Amino acid sequence: MKISKVVMVSMIVGIISFCGVANSAKAYSLTGAWWNKGKIEWRYENYISYRAKQMYVEGINEWKKKSIDAKISSGNKVVCGERNINDTWDGLTCPEYKTGSLEFKSQNVFLNKCKKQTWSSDGALKSVVIHEFGHVFGLADTSKTKNIMNGSTWGTKSRYGTYKLTTPQKDDISGVNKIY
Ligand SMILES: [Zn+2]
Repeated sequence: MKISKVVMVSMIVGIISFCGVANSAKAYSLTGAWWNKGKIEWRYENYISYRAKQMYVEGINEWKKKSIDAKISSGNKVVCGERNINDTWDGLTCPEYKTGSLEFKSQNVFLNKCKKQTWSSDGALKSVVIHEFGHVFGLADTSKTKNIMNGSTWGTKSRYGTYKLTTPQKDDISGVNKIY
């Protein structure tokens, strides 16, 4: 995928999450998108480091341990990779939808090796994987909440820097179960 497209998607996701937070008093926010029958099938991109693989598995397992109504298994719909891009994001999810709907067709998830502060920390990177998989389900970012969907990994009232979250929280789970 071209960098320009990744940046564009990033901006769109930013706008969606802003609207979501503004309109909702809940501690979760939904994008309105969903997977048919709640079936999420994922695999690694072909060329991906052992570290990224390990973190994807650990992060996804945190969701599997929770009581969620979405089903996670292996397949080709969600492709998990890594990039080395000098930009502000440490994780990114780029969805494609079925024509004329918000039903997911496929998604690409990326971890950004260039963000060393996150990449070099097991806890932070795992929190990013869990966060990005929240987007995979159809959750939007929340701001400054003590939830895995808090869009900030670092800084004031951040998901990992402040709250050290490495597992989905009650509101994150409620959000997923609202969709499926
Ligand atoms: Zn996010």
